[in-house]
Amino acid sequence: MNKTDNSSSDHVVGHDGACKSALQAAENHCKKQGIRFTAIRKQILQLICQSHHAVKAYDLLEEIKPDFNNAKPATVYRALDFLLKEGFIHKVESLNAFIACNQGHCNYERMLLICTQCHEIEERTGNNMIKTVTTELQQSGFISQIKTIEIQGICVNCV
Ligand SMILES: [Zn+2]
Ligand SMILES: [Zn+2]
Repeated sequence: MNKTDNSSSDHVVGHDGACKSALQAAENHCKKQGIRFTAIRKQILQLICQSHHAVKAYDLLEEIKPDFNNAKPATVYRALDFLLKEGFIHKVESLNAFIACNQGHCNYERMLLICTQCHEIEERTGNNMIKTVTTELQQSGFISQIKTIEIQGICVNCV
C-alpha cells in the first residue's frame, strides 16, 4: 500500500476515499463473520459515511426512498441497529443522529467531540478519561448502558 502519491488530495477526495475503505472494511468484516451485508445496510452505511455531519434516521429514510421505494421507518431502524451492533456506525445520543466509525468499526468505549459551530464530530478513544469514569461508576455501583462520552464545544477549526 503506497499512500505517498496522495499528498495533493483535497478534503473531499480524502473523505470519499475514507468512505470507500470504510465500506470495504465493513464488507470484509461481514464476510469473515458470515453476516449478510444486504443492499440496504450497505446503502445506509454509505449515506452516513458520505455525510460530513451526523445523520438522522428520518433523513436516511428520505434518501433511500428513491432506491428502495417500499422502505419504511422500521427498515431503516433495523439496518441502523445492525450497523450499530457491528460498530460500523455510532449513535450521537445528544443529537439523536448517527456517524460512521472513523476506524471502519469499533466496539470499545469512545469520546465524541461535537463542534457546535461547524457540527463536525471527532471520534477519539479517550482511554484515560474513560478509565476515570469507569472507576467512578464502579464506586457508585451504577451500571452504565452507553459506551460513549459526548462533549460539545468548539473544534480546532472553529476556534
Ligand atoms: Zn468507532
Ligand atoms: Zn468546528
